[in-house]
Amino acid sequence: MSQTTPDIQIPAELLPADGRFASGPSKVRPEAVSALADIADGYLGTSHRKSGVKDVVHRLRSGLDALFDLPEDWEVVLGNGGTTLFWDAATFGLVRNRSQHLSFGEFSSKFAKCTDAAPFLADPVVIESAMGSHPIPVADERVDLYALTHNETSTGVTMAPVRPAGANDDSIIAVDATSAAGAVRWDTDEVDCYYFAPQKALASDGGLWIACCSPKALDRIAELDASGRWIPPGLSLQTAVENSVKDQTYNTPALATIFLTVHQVEWFNENGGMDFAAGRSEANADVVYGWADASDYATPFVAAAGERSPVVATIDFDDAVSADTLAAVLRANGMLDTEGYRKLGRNQLRIALFPAIDAADLTQLTQSIDYIADQIRGS
Ligand SMILES: *Cc1c(COP(=O)(O)O)cnc(C)c1O
Repeated sequence: MSQTTPDIQIPAELLPADGRFASGPSKVRPEAVSALADIADGYLGTSHRKSGVKDVVHRLRSGLDALFDLPEDWEVVLGNGGTTLFWDAATFGLVRNRSQHLSFGEFSSKFAKCTDAAPFLADPVVIESAMGSHPIPVADERVDLYALTHNETSTGVTMAPVRPAGANDDSIIAVDATSAAGAVRWDTDEVDCYYFAPQKALASDGGLWIACCSPKALDRIAELDASGRWIPPGLSLQTAVENSVKDQTYNTPALATIFLTVHQVEWFNENGGMDFAAGRSEANADVVYGWADASDYATPFVAAAGERSPVVATIDFDDAVSADTLAAVLRANGMLDTEGYRKLGRNQLRIALFPAIDAADLTQLTQSIDYIADQIRGS
């Protein structure tokens, strides 16, 4: 950035205890990092085929099962590579011929690009909507997989996953829940494959993908595995399923990532499960949207209150207050990663509301923003 950042010192009483407000990766709770250090000697650097690690993978799978209250016949499947890799794996192993994608921001557009480029699939149907809103899936008899996004992290729009009325009985509803999983409630009746990476609401590190799969999704994976389609071994969902049910991964996973995820999931489950986790994000959302609604210079970007994300708030500012300057001054004062999503090109901050973040820290952040705005407008 060419502009120089004004030298504004925010008073100590306005500073948060923890200054991490990134929309991904999320703040990792210090309690989880300490717990990892405590068990490191007998865990990190031990075999992922032995009980020490398999027990932790088991806790991850059973903890998610409890958190989402998954039906008996679902499986929690995992592998290496994060959500972006899962899109490639799903292109090979979950889409039979044609998918439909709701595209309303950076992340939701990406899976559509994968299926569009695949030479063995028919062209996907892509339904777009204006940034700051979301489209609705439409039943289409040619479509065998509907690709939805629970929370579009780039724009701060959330949508409840729903099975479109009239969709073919054996079509799959696949939901990218990377920033929503563990913070926003969902209904297993409406979904077949709920997939995510744990570096957002689950407050872990990146590099892992996790997919909660219904029997229909598991059947589709087995069907395509047996179909004769060439599937690169590292992208095989069938191989991932076979390893996951044994509490393993196909190749060596990031053990620290798995441990930190388990820590967060168990923290949720011990305190009331989704009500606790979603409740924390909702309390955070009340702080930030409440402040913006009351402000004379800040406005929530997402017009429909029901579509405003409870995990990532996008806040527009009047021209008199530059969001770039706000973010730069916040950063200089230890409040990190509030910059808006560049490609939207708005005078905007993007603030994470994940369950790991404390509402009191968001209150401090909003007061710090007010303090900076006063200085900018006063000068
Ligand atoms: C962060 C994010 C991704 C990308 O996740 P990676 O693990 O980095 O591949 C995909 N989709 C959504 C909705 C996200 O928020």
